[in-house]
Amino acid sequence: MKPAPFEYLRPRTLHEAIAALAHDDAKILAGGQSLVPMMNFRLVSPERLVDINGLSDLATISETGGSLRIGALVRHAQAARDPLLARHLPVVAETMAHVAHVAIRNRGTIGGSLVHADPSAEWPLLVRLLDGVLELLGPDGQRAVAPEDFFIAPLVTDLAEDEVLTGVLLPVPDPDMGMAFDEVSLRAGDFAMVACGANVMLDDGRIASARLAFGGLGDVPLRMEAVEAALVGQTPDAIAGIVADCAEGLDPNEDMHASVAYRRRLAPVLARRVLERAAGRAGGRT
Ligand SMILES: Cc1cc2nc3c(=O)[nH]c(=O)nc-3n(C[C@H](O)[C@H](O)[C@H](O)COP(=O)(O)OP(=O)(O)OC[C@H]3O[C@@H](n4cnc5c(N)ncnc54)[C@H](O)[C@@H]3O)c2cc1C
Repeated sequence: MKPAPFEYLRPRTLHEAIAALAHDDAKILAGGQSLVPMMNFRLVSPERLVDINGLSDLATISETGGSLRIGALVRHAQAARDPLLARHLPVVAETMAHVAHVAIRNRGTIGGSLVHADPSAEWPLLVRLLDGVLELLGPDGQRAVAPEDFFIAPLVTDLAEDEVLTGVLLPVPDPDMGMAFDEVSLRAGDFAMVACGANVMLDDGRIASARLAFGGLGDVPLRMEAVEAALVGQTPDAIAGIVADCAEGLDPNEDMHASVAYRRRLAPVLARRVLERAAGRAGGRT
């Protein structure tokens, strides 16, 4: 199908973009990899599209005050090969390899992925895992939102209709921190049935701190704080036992790709895999 007719605007500045969003039914167009198929299926029919692809300031990655700033227009493929991210957050490249297919990674953006807020998408999970902060700009100025407040439900976020997501801040981690990501999907490039990321810091062979986050197990990316707390003080040998029941009490969605039981079964398998891999990559182990 073809999309319903729409007005197309291509602002030259962020200010113009925000002014263009002051319309009853306007939507930003970034990579178009989620929005355009939805328009073609007429699941959404915005009257006005505000194409932000000309705002090149939003397509940069920089280091600023102990954080890495990833502009909202940075493409998945650009993030995968960026040298700053490779040095400080190699888990980004590891994760991007799982996002869709090459053509989609070349067009799709971090901003579009975060605002689309698919519960299985990789960027929302990464931003939750890595303690990111989302930067939003609207007519009343800028605000910073934590991922746990930004993601509200599948495809629903805290972004107001007249706001633009301009970028994401990810704190630069301790160089000794080990990180890992993995997921299970039906075919390479499909959305994950369950996705999982972890960080581990070791001290004298024991886990000093750990982070564990899942996508695909709920409406929004989940952090497993009880598991994280239980891991502290243990050696990596204890990981398998500690994560064995980590999906108990969770209520994942059932769809044509995976049953509730299968998603629950995947959770400890992936948790063990990424936590052990992250521990193996952590420095300061002896
Ligand atoms: C076949 C296929 C497979 C895919 N597989 C995966 C996958 O495995 N994992 C995955 O994560 N994704 C997957 N995707 C989605 C892909 O990652 C998209 O690139 C992403 O979800 C949306 O990014 P985009 O830049 O294309 O956004 P668009 O499609 O342009 O926009 C998506 C939504 O975000 C809004 N938006 C975009 N940018 C901004 C901004 N800066 N501020 C405010 N609002 C904004 C738009 O208005 C729209 O509502 C897949 C897509 C396809 C077609």
